[in-house]
Amino acid sequence: MDSIEKYNIEKIHFTTNQSIQLHKLNPDVIPQLMLEAFDAGIVTIGGGGDHPRNVLCSPLSGVEKGEIFDVFHYARAVSEFLVNLIGQVKLPRKLKVGFSNSPKNIVHATYRDMGFIAKPNGKFDLYTAGGLGVNPEFGIKTAEDIEPNDVLYYVMAMVQIFMKYGNYENRAKARTRYIPKTIGEEKYLEEFNRILSEIKSAEDLKLDIKLAENNKKSDNTVAKKSRNIIEQKQQGLYAVKYHPALGNPSFDVMKDLYDVISEIEGAEIRLSTKEEMFIINLTGDEANKVIDILCPDNANTELQESVSCVGATICQQGLSDSSGLLHKIIEVDKEEHYKDGILPKLCISGYQSSCAAHQTASLGFKGGKKKVDGVLMDAFDIFFNGSELQGDERFGDIIGTIPADKIPEMFRVIGKEVQAKDLTFAEWIKSNRERFLEIVKEYAI
Ligand code: SF4
Repeated sequence: MDSIEKYNIEKIHFTTNQSIQLHKLNPDVIPQLMLEAFDAGIVTIGGGGDHPRNVLCSPLSGVEKGEIFDVFHYARAVSEFLVNLIGQVKLPRKLKVGFSNSPKNIVHATYRDMGFIAKPNGKFDLYTAGGLGVNPEFGIKTAEDIEPNDVLYYVMAMVQIFMKYGNYENRAKARTRYIPKTIGEEKYLEEFNRILSEIKSAEDLKLDIKLAENNKKSDNTVAKKSRNIIEQKQQGLYAVKYHPALGNPSFDVMKDLYDVISEIEGAEIRLSTKEEMFIINLTGDEANKVIDILCPDNANTELQESVSCVGATICQQGLSDSSGLLHKIIEVDKEEHYKDGILPKLCISGYQSSCAAHQTASLGFKGGKKKVDGVLMDAFDIFFNGSELQGDERFGDIIGTIPADKIPEMFRVIGKEVQAKDLTFAEWIKSNRERFLEIVKEYAI
């Protein structure tokens, strides 16, 4: 926050990959900013290029009620290991690794380049060679019952198989999900296991992580009821969710938050994959103080919890203004004073890279361009009925392509029908699927 203030940075953005982007930077400040980030323990090298990216981890790992076990420390060890490989190995493309603490699968560990899934027996299952984007694939179950302290052997095997069989010639086919397609799944698994055995006999990569108790203690104060206050598994402690509209927090809120949580013993910030952050390890009184600070721009409806990538106004890969679209739909919701749940949560990507994971959303949008009557316009494909849940993962069906400027109006119509039945969208869609498809068809090109 000190650097953001010092360099007068206009726009802060929470991404879908558990990081914070600073936009509209003056190029002159970037080197200094990177050095200051480094001094604060933030390494920016995994943020781009053909490198391992930041390792994803369920944001509430270690504090979440019902989690299988805390995967955070393993994710951090893998992150440190991979960052140290940068410069020593040359990968064909980026490598994304995730750790999941529960079947909610928030980090999409079953469809990353590499994903570790916590199991009730205290071990991990491993899925590899998955990913969204063009030609999306769910991961292949590659190993079962991995001892958590052995994860680095598997990471190294993945790095080596990627370097051996990854495509260095064609960037469009360079991600790990193309390897099993190229050499066959059977050979891929055989090779993975062969490389793994070699690494296990040649190197000592065993970790020595022992999970410890959370030191923060409750003071028996009770947090108020709020959709954004979550009880932790540690009795009497809370996490507070901050989901600013479009993932863009206001500077003033962030500054106030920083001032308050720097004084709270044991408080931590955890970034999520849904353009939001959690502040964890708060007593009831502390959670109440934090939620009040976040109140001015925190989501308080399902629609406002939607995820839209930054889109074409910022991203060079983008074709459509995904965050502009979400902004307009939220405006419609406000104009109509719809109650929470009348309009659903959406996942909107500005193009095919799937940064908002539109393919596995229950309702997702992918931006692009379409020619209508000789005029090129922004239009979004709609993906319906996808799922990210572990064991029930599925890609949504494309049910239409709609010009961007018609989508807010379509939601006005849907909202009115849902409201007239006094239901939420989730309840309405169960018995009105055909009507929903009909409405989409009315607006589709
Ligand atoms: S426009 Fe495409 S590449 Fe850019 S953030 Fe959105 S989905 Fe990702």
